[in-house]
Amino acid sequence: MSKDFSVTVLGSSSAIPTKDRFPTSQLVCCYGRYYLLDCGEGTQIQLRKYKLSFQRIDRIFISHLHADHFLGLPGLLSTMDLLGRTKEIHIHTFDELNLFMDGFMKSTFTEFSFRVHIHVMSKKKSTVLFENKHIEISTIPLKHSIPCNGFLIKEKRKLFNLKKTALKKYEPSIEQIHHIKSGGDLVLSDGSVVPNAELTMIPPATKAYAFVTDTCYYESIIPFIEGVDLLYHEATFAENLKERAKSTMHSTAKQAAEIALKANVKKLMIGHYSVRYENTDILLKEAQLVFPDTFCSTEGLEVEI
Ligand SMILES: [Zn+2]
Ligand SMILES: [Zn+2]
Repeated sequence: MSKDFSVTVLGSSSAIPTKDRFPTSQLVCCYGRYYLLDCGEGTQIQLRKYKLSFQRIDRIFISHLHADHFLGLPGLLSTMDLLGRTKEIHIHTFDELNLFMDGFMKSTFTEFSFRVHIHVMSKKKSTVLFENKHIEISTIPLKHSIPCNGFLIKEKRKLFNLKKTALKKYEPSIEQIHHIKSGGDLVLSDGSVVPNAELTMIPPATKAYAFVTDTCYYESIIPFIEGVDLLYHEATFAENLKERAKSTMHSTAKQAAEIALKANVKKLMIGHYSVRYENTDILLKEAQLVFPDTFCSTEGLEVEI
């Protein structure tokens, strides 16, 4: 993982794993930092397999408390402890994880040598969970059989790059350079103004990744994911099981594609496949009929956002 902003799929299965597919988990890398999205059973095995360092993970985001999205936590945290971790870790999820973790810690007489902070997220409205100078991570409220949030990871506006010719011509001070890089104009000593456009090159566009699992077809998410560079949307079933998708509050591949189309996203990655699809071609085909720029998540796949 060397790119500035990328995601690696660790698990693409829904509740029941197969011999090749693990329950949901993805590792997002942003400017050298790792963020884990969901932590299904076996996440630590997948991190090992793809040579992704456990200790670089400081934040874990759990979409909801169905077993296939968080049961990997006790194992992962225990291994971090065995590997000598002392650095605290932050978990963003719903309050009920506290019950589970308390039960686990007490019943197994476990004490970690690092602090685990559980940050409780809202079940109803979108909130910002984390930000640093590069990115912002917020929730996308979803519609599932229990409270569930997706996550939106957005790059912050990048600074303008100064043209070398402008640097030479005007020799701005350090403060003036900061001002210009943030989009300001340059005021010369005689009071005349050099507009920013003359001094800088347009910064590269900011990127965004939306992680949407588990949910039924739910158009209310569209304003949150509008225009993102990559949308991951669950696609548990094919279209002939549309009724089953509805009753279990999941989506079909076609519904995932309809959301992608309506939200005008650039690319769609589907996953959270039901165990009945040994081969996911049918899901891919049905999605691509609606939204051609669709591809399947598979274990170990790394995608640059
Ligand atoms: Zn699930
Ligand atoms: Zn679920």
